[in-house]
Amino acid sequence: MNKQLSNPFELARETLKTLASRKVPPTPDNYAKIYTEISGIPTEKNNGAEKVLRGIAERLVQTPKSASTGITLKKVMETGNWERCLREIEKVLPKQDGEVVQSWSDLIRDLLRQLEITHKGLTITRKKEGVETVLARFAADPETLFVKLSGLVRSWPESQVAANPVDVVSTPLVEPVAGNAAITPAVVGSAPVLKPDSNTETIGKLSELLAQTLESILSTQPELAQEVRTLAQQIRSIKTHGDVTALAKQLRQFWIKAELRGGDKARIHEGLVRLLRLLVENIGEMVEDEEWLHGQIIILQEIIANPIDTRAIADAERSLRDAIIKQGMLKQSLADAKTTLKSLMTTFIDRLGEITESTGDYHQKIEGYSKKIGRSNNLTELSHLLDDIMQDTRVIQASALRSHEELLGTRKQVQESEAKIKKLEQELAQVSELVREDQLTGALNRRGLDEAFEREAMRADRSQIPICVALLDIDNFKSLNDTLGHHAGDQALIHLSNVIRDALRPSDLVARYGGEEFIIVLPGVGIEEAVATIERLQRELTKKFFLHGNDRILVTFSAGVAQRAPQELQEDVIGRTDSAMYRAKHTGKNRVVVAE
Ligand code: GH3
Ligand code: MG
Ligand code: MG
Repeated sequence: MNKQLSNPFELARETLKTLASRKVPPTPDNYAKIYTEISGIPTEKNNGAEKVLRGIAERLVQTPKSASTGITLKKVMETGNWERCLREIEKVLPKQDGEVVQSWSDLIRDLLRQLEITHKGLTITRKKEGVETVLARFAADPETLFVKLSGLVRSWPESQVAANPVDVVSTPLVEPVAGNAAITPAVVGSAPVLKPDSNTETIGKLSELLAQTLESILSTQPELAQEVRTLAQQIRSIKTHGDVTALAKQLRQFWIKAELRGGDKARIHEGLVRLLRLLVENIGEMVEDEEWLHGQIIILQEIIANPIDTRAIADAERSLRDAIIKQGMLKQSLADAKTTLKSLMTTFIDRLGEITESTGDYHQKIEGYSKKIGRSNNLTELSHLLDDIMQDTRVIQASALRSHEELLGTRKQVQESEAKIKKLEQELAQVSELVREDQLTGALNRRGLDEAFEREAMRADRSQIPICVALLDIDNFKSLNDTLGHHAGDQALIHLSNVIRDALRPSDLVARYGGEEFIIVLPGVGIEEAVATIERLQRELTKKFFLHGNDRILVTFSAGVAQRAPQELQEDVIGRTDSAMYRAKHTGKNRVVVAE
C-alpha cells in the first residue's frame, strides 16, 4: 500500500490521472482495477466476488469429476482473466434447457443416421435391441439416458470392439453418474486379473458349468465339435475381465451359428416326417388288397401320427423286420412255384405236341391202314396190319397216359405251392396289424395288452371290482446276454414267461411290454393280494431254474405293483408301476415295491 496516498481523495485523483495517462476508457471496472492497483487494497465489491469465486473453485476441486476445472479456475483467477473464469465455470454448470433440446435433437438425428449405416458385425435388430436396453434402464433419468444413448450410438462405428450394447451399458452401470474414484480405475484399467477371493471360486464353477453346457451340444451337433472343444477350453482358462469380454463375443457368435443349425435340423426332421407320412399314405392306398402289407402300413401310420420317440421307432423296426423276413420267404416260394409251373407247362406242351404229332401220324396211319384194310383180302396181311395198328395205338396210349400222369403231378405241385404261399401269407398277416401275441414268448404284445387292458378296465369300472397291474423287469439281463449269448437271453425270456403263465390264473393277463419287461394285469385282485402274487412268482423262479446246458441259472426280477384307481388310464397306472419298479431297482433289485 502506498502510504503517501492513504487519503481517498488523493487516491481517486491519482487513479483518474493514471486512467488518462494509460488512455484507458474511464469505465467503472477500469477505475476499480486501477484504484486497487494504486491503493494495494482490493475494493469491498471485488474482494467479496473473488471470495465467492475462490469458494466455488475449492468446491470444484473436492469433487473428482470437476477437480481439473477447479484447479484451472484457481489459476485463471490469479491472472484476473474473468472471462476465462466464466468459461471454466460454464463447463461444470448444468446445461440450459435450450442447449439440452439442441443436443437431444442432434443425438436423435445421429441415432437415426447410424441406425441405417451398415456396421460390421452389427445388424439393425441388434442396434435396436441396444437402444431398447438403454431406454429400459435409464428412462427415469433423462440426463443419464442422454449420456448412455450417446455412448451407445458412438460405439456402433467401433462395433468390432464393442459389438454388444450390453458392453456399452455395463461400464456406466458400474460407474455411478456422480463419479466414484474408488471404482473408476478398475473399470478404466485394461484387463485386470480377477481378485483371488470367493468370487474366483464361484466364477471357476460357473465357467466349468458353462463349458459343460457347451459340451452337451456335442451329442446333438457333432459337426460343431471342434469349435465347441476350443471354446470350452478357453472358458476353463478364463483369467481376466478381458478374457471374459473376448469370450462373450465369441460365444454370442457361436450361439447364433448353433441356433441356425438347430433350426435347420428341426426343419429337416419335420420335413422328413411329413414326407414319410405322405409316402405311407400313398402306399396305403395302393395296397388295399394286400392284407399283410396293409397291416404294416397301419402300424407305421399309427407310429408317425404320434410324437416319434426311440421306443416307437424300435417297435416299428422290430415288426417291420419280421415282415421283411416273411416277405423274403414268400418271395422265394413264389419264385420257386413259378419256376416249377413253367417247366411243367413246357413239358406238358411238349407232350401235347408229341400227342398231336403221334395222333396226327396215327390218323394218317389209320387212314393208310383203312385203305390197306379195304384193299386187303388176305388174313395174314390183315393180321400184320392189325399188329401194326395195335402197335401204333399202344404208342399213342402210352404217350397219352404219360401226359395224363404228368398233368396230375403238375397239378399236385401247383396245389402244394399254393398251400405253401397261403400259409406264408397267413404268417405275414399275423406279424402285421392282426397279431396280438409276442412272437418269442407267446405272451401278449403291446397291441394285445392294450385291447385286453381296455376290456378288463371297463369291466372293473362297471362292476366296481379292483384291478392291479405289475411291471416286471429282469435283473441284470444285459450281463446274462453278455455271458451266455443272445440266444440264451431269448430262452430265458421264454422260460420266465412260461413260469409266470403257469403260476397265474387263466384270467390274468401277461404281456411282454419291452425287451425284458413284462406287464401283469390281475383283475379282481386288491393290492395286498397282488403283491403276494408277484412275490409268489419270485419264489417260483427260485424253484424252476432256467437251464442253460447243464447250468442252472437263477433269473430274478424287480417289480412295481399298483392298484388301478377307478377310471385311471392305462398309461397312468403303468407309469406308477414303472416308478415303483425303478425304486425296486435302486433299493437292491429282486424285490417288489408298491406304487404311490
Ligand atoms: P437292470 O437290473 O437294471 O434291469 O439291468 P439290465 O441289464 O437288465 O437292464 P438294461 O435295461 O440295461 O438291459 C436290458 C437288456 O436286455 C439290454 C438288451 O440287450 C436285452 N434285451 C432286450 N430285449 C431282448 C431280447 O429280445 N432278447 C435278448 N436276448 N435280450 C434282450
Ligand atoms: Mg429294462
Ligand atoms: Mg433289466
